[in-house]
Amino acid sequence: SLAGKTAVITGSNSGIGLGIAWEMARAGADVVLNSFTDRDEDHAIAEEISKETNTKARYIQADMSKGDQCRRLITDAGRCDILVNNAGIQHVAAIPDFPAVKWDAIIAINLSSAFHTSAIALPMMREAGWGRVVNIASAHGLTASPYKAAYIAAKHGIVGLTKTTALETAQEPITANAICPGYVLTPIVEKQIPDTMKEYDMSREDVIQNVMLKRQPSKEFATTEQMGGTAVFLCSDAAAQITGTTISVDGGWTAL
Ligand code: NAD
Repeated sequence: SLAGKTAVITGSNSGIGLGIAWEMARAGADVVLNSFTDRDEDHAIAEEISKETNTKARYIQADMSKGDQCRRLITDAGRCDILVNNAGIQHVAAIPDFPAVKWDAIIAINLSSAFHTSAIALPMMREAGWGRVVNIASAHGLTASPYKAAYIAAKHGIVGLTKTTALETAQEPITANAICPGYVLTPIVEKQIPDTMKEYDMSREDVIQNVMLKRQPSKEFATTEQMGGTAVFLCSDAAAQITGTTISVDGGWTAL
């Protein structure tokens, strides 16, 4: 059980982050949810998780594109036994057309945020005598596709950061690993369907079957619950010697 642990999950008011928050809470952890917005519904999600799981859940607004706000998130959480760096955005365009502001935002949110949160969380984990860092990379942290230069650079980067974090904590009861999901049907994927339709001149169904799931031999989307279950496993005693590595949850993508 993760009772007594506090899990901070960045970018967790939707999709995979929210799925991970639910599974962490079901496993007994108190959770801190986050995104850059501060709406009633953000706080309502935390309330619902608290009520359903009998754990403490809070929502803390912080913009993961800003280093100081990443650091403030962990400080405000007060405790961080489990850090899940999940916040991420995507933009689909060929390199000559790729807007520089999108490049900067993707590197900041998908990669640099994990550096900033880890910098504050690791000393807290040392103090507590236990810690888990779970970075959400991607199959695109291990392989590439055209038109996603910034995302793929950031995801390969976070795999490297994960390995370094693991080496810096190797002789302590702290582990750092990356989960590499294949396609999961969340808002981030939903939003890139129109641009991909344009790039490939394809229908929506063709993009789903012949571009997205083409790389996923199972021909099924992975689910947010499966990401949550994998993250909880990485926090278990069975995973205490798993560190500095990646776990693919991608329906066979990286086997191809
Ligand atoms: P999503 O769009 O549902 O979730 C992204 C989350 O990040 C949201 O909660 C959003 O509010 C938050 N976010 C965005 N910008 C932020 C900012 N500036 N500050 C704080 N929070 C911010 O998409 P998702 O699929 O759940 O993505 C979650 C993670 O999983 C991302 O890192 C993504 O790259 C990764 N991933 C997703 C897939 C997939 O197929 N869906 C595959 C591989 C990896």
